[in-house]
Amino acid sequence: MEGVARATVSADVAVVGAGLSGLRAARQLADAGREVIVLEARDRVGGRLFNATLGDGVTVDVGGQWVGSDHVRVQRLASELGIEIFPQHGDGRNLLDLGGKRRRYRGTIPRLGPRVLWDIFIARRRFDRLARAVGAEEPWAAERAAELDGETLAQWCERNMRTEAARELIGLAGRTVWGTGPEELSMLHVLFYVSAAGSFDKLIDTEGGAQQDRLDGGAQLLPLGLADSLGDRVRLGAAARRISDRGSGVQVVADGVEVEAERAIVAVPPAIAARIEIDPLPPGRPELAERLRPGALTKCMALYEEPFWRGDGLSGEAVADTGPVTLTFDSSPRDGSAGVLLGFVGGPEARELAALPAAERRAPVLACFERLYGPRAAQPLDYAEQTWTEEEFSGGGPTSNFGPGGWTACGPTLREPVGRIHWAGTETATIWSGYMEGALQAGERVASEVLESGRTVG
Ligand SMILES: Cc1cc2nc3c(=O)[nH]c(=O)nc-3n(C[C@H](O)[C@H](O)[C@H](O)COP(=O)(O)OP(=O)(O)OC[C@H]3O[C@@H](n4cnc5c(N)ncnc54)[C@H](O)[C@@H]3O)c2cc1C
Repeated sequence: MEGVARATVSADVAVVGAGLSGLRAARQLADAGREVIVLEARDRVGGRLFNATLGDGVTVDVGGQWVGSDHVRVQRLASELGIEIFPQHGDGRNLLDLGGKRRRYRGTIPRLGPRVLWDIFIARRRFDRLARAVGAEEPWAAERAAELDGETLAQWCERNMRTEAARELIGLAGRTVWGTGPEELSMLHVLFYVSAAGSFDKLIDTEGGAQQDRLDGGAQLLPLGLADSLGDRVRLGAAARRISDRGSGVQVVADGVEVEAERAIVAVPPAIAARIEIDPLPPGRPELAERLRPGALTKCMALYEEPFWRGDGLSGEAVADTGPVTLTFDSSPRDGSAGVLLGFVGGPEARELAALPAAERRAPVLACFERLYGPRAAQPLDYAEQTWTEEEFSGGGPTSNFGPGGWTACGPTLREPVGRIHWAGTETATIWSGYMEGALQAGERVASEVLESGRTVG
């Protein structure tokens, strides 16, 4: 980009990334009377929140979607923006397709044999107890941090759970919660995540958990509403390429614009932020980017004339181990005027699916839908798939995860400001990290950090 003409603008704070986190920070700073410029690489705001359209106008969330029962910041913002929240459809029986056997059940935990159920019950209690001891503020400083960071979720389950079916279910849940297989996740990361959410059940539950509600009109309405309120302070198509901390201020060089500011906020996933040249290079950030890797989560949505599975007494929620789809939900519009089945493909299966030519990805997904919901599921009116690993400015989703050793090696660098550069984004949150709620919490935290730094010119 050297030699390309750019407009130079001045601001108190330059925010890199117009996802929910960067926009929330910018709004708070603007409300406090600070001049902000938000630089967004894409030609749209919202990052990992993205509304797509199926058929002749059915809006679907191909990124983040659900509002949890205690996602108070999201609920407040939705209410401020006049976006209605409605319950995730859950009436009817769920399906479990495990080891070639299909069962119908109600609630989050399927009716399996008593040994398996007991195994899951004990594991959930242990996750919660260990998570309380780890906390979400400084997991690397927990008493057993080194030991817990030294093993994967898969190894922990192998040591502590007795039944293969229970281990399999934890692994399947993890593929969607983290977009990662259990053999890649640090146990300390899992416990940090559980702690930030409040409990293991909150991560996996629909009612009373993270999947409780949806936003009418799609979750991208949240960042769109925030961006609207910020007006021309948000610059699209402005990928930040270089941030120089000159001691007395920062210079952010982006496509088409150069910002001279007192401080910079980087509200981008760490692995993606590492592509921005930062001068001087903050120690520890390259290793952080190497170790905190975006998960792989692909959302597949099929549109039907109606949510026909409801007529069969099914909720649309299914857990399956055949793959590539391991979890489905009813993602139909609020009024049920059309049927939308959502299938998640996560972790290793998401990478395998992404390796296929785009035209060949739909068939294995629809085969899963058909196995679960019958022949009508194989004939959708329309179909959409969002492969987040292919997104240059996201790198994956739903969040980024540490493998073994990551938290203890890099934890302290995650949020710590470096000179005049501050870090936001859901990965840096201590409440509901990885979720929209975490993105907002991190945005609020970083805005307060900048305001309290006392050096920002008002
Ligand atoms: C498939 C999927 C399902 C999910 N489901 C849910 C859910 O149901 N509920 C929930 O709460 N959360 C969910 N999430 C997570 C949620 O979407 C994220 O936690 C949240 O959107 C993250 O917001 P953010 O602002 O931290 O980051 P992002 O949304 O990633 O925003 C970062 C922004 O920075 C921009 N950017 C990157 N590099 C640069 C650069 N160099 N210069 C300028 N801009 C740059 C990006 O384009 C992007 O707009 C899901 C995510 C995915 C992918």
